[in-house]
Amino acid sequence: MPLYRDEAVVLRTWKLGEADRILALLTAGHGQVRAVAKGVRRTRSKFGGRLEPTCHVAVQLHEGRGDLQIVTQAESLDTFPSLRGDPDRFADASALLEVAERLSSEGEGDRRRYDMLVGALRTLEQRPSPLLVPAFFLKALAHEGLAPALDACVRCQTTDRLVAVDPGEGGVLCADCRRGRPLSESALAVLRAVLGGHLSTALEVEDARVCAEVDAVATDAAEYHLERRIRSRHVMERA
Ligand SMILES: [Zn+2]
Repeated sequence: MPLYRDEAVVLRTWKLGEADRILALLTAGHGQVRAVAKGVRRTRSKFGGRLEPTCHVAVQLHEGRGDLQIVTQAESLDTFPSLRGDPDRFADASALLEVAERLSSEGEGDRRRYDMLVGALRTLEQRPSPLLVPAFFLKALAHEGLAPALDACVRCQTTDRLVAVDPGEGGVLCADCRRGRPLSESALAVLRAVLGGHLSTALEVEDARVCAEVDAVATDAAEYHLERRIRSRHVMERA
């Protein structure tokens, strides 16, 4: 299979030499792929601006002998002009790409994981919500079997007075077993909606305090399981 076609989202790029770029792609059928786009940094490149982070493309790839494949064609499927033109939305998109990159591996296609990323980018482009990124983190973790347990205290199994959440413990905790981060009833309800198949309802929540709480829980959980900080979620702290 030296030459094949697939769909992909560009996750990350690195400069290579004078005019080339290495791309990390999340493909629909082949998992994460590293590929070289030759001449992509020249002004009259045949690839135009189609191979920037967040771009959703149909690609033809040539399987080389080493680890790096070669992009021989790329056609745009989505260009996401709004999220690429707006720094806040682009920061959110970068967080989606970062987590998608960490959760995927090479050569292992996972259509559901790929569709989740494309769906989240399209939602971010069309109707951004403060809960979009945390909801993606939670759904992506759930897809890997790593979502926090929300039904009962992870220590004593009671379903009453669930007041805290700890990713290291694996989920929510009651008032007697509490540790980790305090959790309000409203935030717990939103977390349950996201993971219980009511994502669109959850995305309508606008209460800033609840959104911040859900965001913190989702970021904690993602960072705990990825064993690293998500750079794109800490831009504000560095500023
Ligand atoms: Zn308990």
